[in-house]
Amino acid sequence: MRPTGKLHLGNYMGALANWVKLQNSAQYECYFFIADWHALTTDYADPSRLKLKTIDVALDYLAAGLNPEKSTIFIQSHVPQHAELNLLLGMITPLGWLERVPTYKEQQENLTSKDLSNFGFLGYPLLMASDILLYQPQFVPVGIDQTAHVELTREVARRFNSMYKAEVFPEPGALLTPSPKVPGTDGRKMSKSYGNTIGLTEAPTAVAAKIHGMSTGGQRIRQSDSGDPDLCPVGDLHKVFSAPDVIAETQKGCRAASMRCELCKMEAAKSVCAVIAPIHSKRMQLESRIDETWDMLREQSAKAAARAEQTMLSVRAVLDLSHDLGSVRRHFLASDEDLLKAHDLSSHSEWLGLQRDEQAKQLRDYWRANLLPREVQLSQPANLVFASLDRELEEPFITSKKKRVFVMASRDEAAPGRWAFEIPAKSYEVWTLLCWSKADDWLHDFPIPQKYYAQAFAQARKSLKKDGKIPLTVQKDGDRFLLSIHGSEPVDIAELQSNYGPLG
Ligand code: SF4
Repeated sequence: MRPTGKLHLGNYMGALANWVKLQNSAQYECYFFIADWHALTTDYADPSRLKLKTIDVALDYLAAGLNPEKSTIFIQSHVPQHAELNLLLGMITPLGWLERVPTYKEQQENLTSKDLSNFGFLGYPLLMASDILLYQPQFVPVGIDQTAHVELTREVARRFNSMYKAEVFPEPGALLTPSPKVPGTDGRKMSKSYGNTIGLTEAPTAVAAKIHGMSTGGQRIRQSDSGDPDLCPVGDLHKVFSAPDVIAETQKGCRAASMRCELCKMEAAKSVCAVIAPIHSKRMQLESRIDETWDMLREQSAKAAARAEQTMLSVRAVLDLSHDLGSVRRHFLASDEDLLKAHDLSSHSEWLGLQRDEQAKQLRDYWRANLLPREVQLSQPANLVFASLDRELEEPFITSKKKRVFVMASRDEAAPGRWAFEIPAKSYEVWTLLCWSKADDWLHDFPIPQKYYAQAFAQARKSLKKDGKIPLTVQKDGDRFLLSIHGSEPVDIAELQSNYGPLG
């Protein structure tokens, strides 16, 4: 949501209530954010209350039941990756795609008090696409009026994947959410710009007073007249908030002129207050400890940024923007010292936050781009372009002499100087084990030819089920690195460290 200040009943029923359900269903891992950059695309002239409005929305999120222990709840501008991805996707997005988004022209015509001929406003649908794709989601929960934005997002994802022959972005589907029409106090759609809203966290007495003063849409001007509850905004309010028996009773009373409008409105106020009173009281509690909410938002934004960074690592790699010197080092005549430097991973603390297989992939890609000497050419089978991460980690690289090289990475998390691996029970000519040492952030790499492991491997394979994985460990012992396959007698592989001979 854009930070427009406190939320109203329309926002709640149209989106927030449904988000809480999605979160609580435990079926989805949800990300919800407050889109403060989006607010600036139209309200750039006066940012003075942006933070206040951002916190107002956050408090309403929490009061309504979004829970940072179940979902990630963050502020867009605290995750700069949104801007980076927006910039990069901007390179491949044709202008026409943005100009034809229906809300673009519509809003420009409607919001005449603002000059919306700015670049930021034209680009907001792409920023939205970036907001979505950054988390590589399966679904975006939206109302029907937002489906054009999801469609644009899918188009951008498709274009990126096909242009760079990469599968970085899944095409997210629209998870259509029911959004019942909540009437404003004047009978028009509830909207801040009409000044007809009922706040989600307004005090129940204020809500009752607003409903008491609501228009009946011209129904029952004289209380002795019968009315049509389908034509009265109070009737609509009942349909959204009241229990079926209350709806039936008030409709009957309206049509038969046996219930006064005043009473009907009181019933409506009761139904609305039953929903919002707990939200109001939760908000009052939260307001009294505003620092806690702000700290939570900062923490959650850092969590979102760590997830976003995973995507950006792939995006940067695809666009050759990774922060390593990489193969460029090999393009120049690098000194031994330069090459040695490539083993130092101390500047890669961002990998620590990754899932284990993501980390393995980063290390493997890093090894291939930074440590392999120029004369060693490794290629992967072409069909890997659209492979899943699991598959990709299992597939071997192929050397120019058609040797199959399996590369696996590990960090000594459990015990310093001890690395554990699992290798598919398939035959490879060379294993390359990458051992990331926690103590000094050094990457030890061991290309190991088959003769070192053939016997123990054959034995392990016999004792394991078909297609099982073979566990092996490398244990550092002084200057020695001892390889043991499924409990076999350890073999010292220290002499193979950074010895790329077996790959030639
Ligand atoms: S009885 Fe209720 S639904 Fe009918 S006109 Fe009055 S306020 Fe509207």
